Amino acid sequence: MNALMGKKALVTGGSRGIGAATALRLAQEGADVAVTYVQDEGAAKEVVAKIEAMGRRGLALRADLADPAAARTAVEETAEAFGGLDVLVNNAGVGVLGPLDQLTHADVDRVLSVNVRGAFLAAQAAAARMTPGGRIITIGSCMAQRVPGPGGTLYATSKAALSGLTKALARELGGRGINATLVQPGPIDTDMNPADGPYADGQSAMTALGRFGTAGEVASAVAYLAGEGAAYVTGAELSVDGGHAA
Ligand code: NDP
Repeated sequence: MNALMGKKALVTGGSRGIGAATALRLAQEGADVAVTYVQDEGAAKEVVAKIEAMGRRGLALRADLADPAAARTAVEETAEAFGGLDVLVNNAGVGVLGPLDQLTHADVDRVLSVNVRGAFLAAQAAAARMTPGGRIITIGSCMAQRVPGPGGTLYATSKAALSGLTKALARELGGRGINATLVQPGPIDTDMNPADGPYADGQSAMTALGRFGTAGEVASAVAYLAGEGAAYVTGAELSVDGGHAA
């Protein structure tokens, strides 16, 4: 489990859920890992303590991606603290679901600024710091591939944009040996989407496996994409969705 030994990583939204599981998995494989949070500083510090207990360097940074300066600052602070940046995991995201006629202008601005602009600006800042071998891994959603019912217009719009971002990054950065990939999770048991929530049964039924996934199952895919085994994988989308898109 030392495939990422010596690598330096930043996971946005790494205080909880998929981001926290990913940060811990990357650290388990040897990486130093910075995580960002917005509100839950205590949770972010707990993740850092676990990273440090594995003998790796950890860092908790407050970064609200609704602020356009925050992504760049987080990338810069990570690269300064660790002496470079090899892996960016664009994980932070907000899920705002609801009927089309009830979504407000403010909802649209918030979701697009965090889920799309934040990922774009973090990738831009990370690319400026990365050397050959760098990886930009973005967490999208199965909702970009298949919207199973009403209420998903805004969220699906934001997640579909990440597909274009990933492909274009792959083309733009391939010549520098930097890979960009997209992970498309299905329903994953987190605070955002608890497996015992009111819409959970319907979501499980939409998958081939008939269940929610775990944050660790998404983290495994990210660790693969960050590692040497994925050196020839770029511009690609990896579904970790229990067959939601099948
Ligand atoms: P959680 O709600 O459990 O965690 C969200 C994380 O993002 C937290 O670390 C939170 O920080 C951080 N965050 C929230 N708002 C912002 C913001 N404005 N700026 C920066 N960071 C922010 O979510 P999940 O772990 O479930 O989701 C992670 C990613 O996976 C998201 O992009 C989501 O869209 C995607 N996804 C999730 C699925 C699921 O079923 N759970 C399915 C498909 C995709 P803090 O702790 O400080 O609040």
